[in-house]
Amino acid sequence: MKASQFLISTLKEAPADAEVVSHQLMTRAGMIKRLSAGVYTYMPMGLRVIRKVEAIVREEMNRAGAVECSMPVVQPAELWRETGRFQTMGPELLRIQDRHERDFVVQPTSEEAVTDIARQDFRSYKQLPKNLYQIQTKFRDERRPRFGLMRGREFVMKDAYSFDRDEAGAKASYQIMARAYRAIFDRFGLSYRAVAADSGAIGGDLSEEFQVIASTGEDAIVYSTGSGYAANMEKAESAAPAAPRPGAGQALTKTPTPGKSTCADVAELLSIPLKSTVKSLVLATDTLDDQGEVGKTQVWLLLLRGDHDMNEIKVGKLPGLNESFRFATVPEIIEHFGTKPGYLGPIQLKKPVKVVADREVAVMADWVCGANEEDFHLTGVNWGRDLPEPDLVADIRNVVAGDPSPDGQGELAIQRGIEVGHIFFLGTKYSKAMNATFLDEDGKPKHFQMGCYGIGVTRLPAAAIEQNHDERGIIWPDAIAPFTLVICPVGMDRSEAVKASAESLYQDLVAAGVDVILDDRGERPGAMFADWELIGVPHRVTIGDRGLKEGQVEYQHRRDAAPTKVAAADITAFVK
Ligand code: ATP
Ligand code: MG
Ligand code: MG
Ligand code: MG
Repeated sequence: MKASQFLISTLKEAPADAEVVSHQLMTRAGMIKRLSAGVYTYMPMGLRVIRKVEAIVREEMNRAGAVECSMPVVQPAELWRETGRFQTMGPELLRIQDRHERDFVVQPTSEEAVTDIARQDFRSYKQLPKNLYQIQTKFRDERRPRFGLMRGREFVMKDAYSFDRDEAGAKASYQIMARAYRAIFDRFGLSYRAVAADSGAIGGDLSEEFQVIASTGEDAIVYSTGSGYAANMEKAESAAPAAPRPGAGQALTKTPTPGKSTCADVAELLSIPLKSTVKSLVLATDTLDDQGEVGKTQVWLLLLRGDHDMNEIKVGKLPGLNESFRFATVPEIIEHFGTKPGYLGPIQLKKPVKVVADREVAVMADWVCGANEEDFHLTGVNWGRDLPEPDLVADIRNVVAGDPSPDGQGELAIQRGIEVGHIFFLGTKYSKAMNATFLDEDGKPKHFQMGCYGIGVTRLPAAAIEQNHDERGIIWPDAIAPFTLVICPVGMDRSEAVKASAESLYQDLVAAGVDVILDDRGERPGAMFADWELIGVPHRVTIGDRGLKEGQVEYQHRRDAAPTKVAAADITAFVK
């Protein structure tokens, strides 16, 4: 490829809404362009990356015996009514109507469509097992699309579905996928972890997420320093011992000083040492319930996470005390009670509040606790600011670093991750709902045992960037770089030697199968290097008159601090 023919449109500034580095850099590097919230055009430079991700996924899926197909993006509601998901899926499912006012959905995933194929085409046990996959556009009307491709509304997912005769077969199919996923993620050249995830109502341990390690990741993952144990936080918490931590369940006996409570007051109030790791806080109150009934006890559990983003804080009713346990996010709470971020807490409640410590005190930087009655509650406490040791403001969870590993080997450590893949044993959940059967050896119809396996194809490049970047831009792993190597001729317009040498190296590398781009735009060296460093092409060869006079060109890896001189005659062999 020659840069003059390609589309290179780099930007100095990131858009104002780009909160994370991958969104900033992908936009600045001209890889994506926003069309509306969570909906992006994959520009030529970005599409090259996506195509490389797809190629790796496709190769390994095929190698594992899966078969590619492509299911419709727009699917009839009837299918989705069979499983009940047309109703139960909630607002994430985009429902549309055609001109006859018939309902359709835009696929967020494709269990229904694929199960419909199976019940028509997989008639006999002799046709099983089968694994069908597609690499296709998905749409999820995410409540808060953000971070560019990381949490888009329209995105590309590889979704695969296995069909087996029996549970043992389905579990074997699951294991084949578990291995294929490791092969795929190994090839991307990223640091990742496969972690146990909740398999929901089905039970068992047959669900794993593939998490790319990055401090900006939305998920917390837990692993043992002494064994192979690894789980996402939800799974780890469900396995954690129920024994309460110090301070749990203690009711408040004191009333804080109105208007001027400090963290120390709060700690005293909750009878918890100020320096303890902060995790969760239960707020109990008599107030209006969801239906507006007065006098019912509402218990809200604030699970505060340490990423300083109010929108990430999850609020839910305490299990055990209230059967209708659910999680809500802070924006939902705000919507419900009409308070403002930064002043959340008992403030939104209409009646006096009793504060109960559950496990450990909740503290978060710049989180101001409030109250609705001046004389009763804590007001104006900036839990973060008033906390003497801000680095104690960690991930606030029921499982903390240093806890013993559930397998008894080593202790737990916590990292943040980005969910880029998820594999799941489904059992007969969908085949039963849709009455999808095959004839087994005994001549009787049986429901398929299924599994589903997703990879966030367009999320992956964003995750790769979160993990691999510096102040100058992206640093792509070779496997998914838009181009593997860029030739930067310096003074090409003035020097025939440079031009000829760049052209001949370009031809050699093309012939050798290297994914190379020749920057023949005639840019100044500074601007040219800045572009390629921003775009993140891992290998660069610079050709200039001065070097050529000594028979040399310069090679520099994107991570190298300085170029290496290489004999011009050897460069093709050197970079191959
Ligand atoms: P998340 O927890 O991030 O919302 P999910 O668990 O809802 O993801 P799955 O249903 O497991 O997602 O879908 C399989 C994969 O699709 C995920 O592992 C992720 O990589 C990708 N994915 C899901 N939602 C999005 C999105 N909004 N934008 C981009 N990729 C997504
Ligand atoms: Mg989701
Ligand atoms: Mg998830
Ligand atoms: Mg998932």
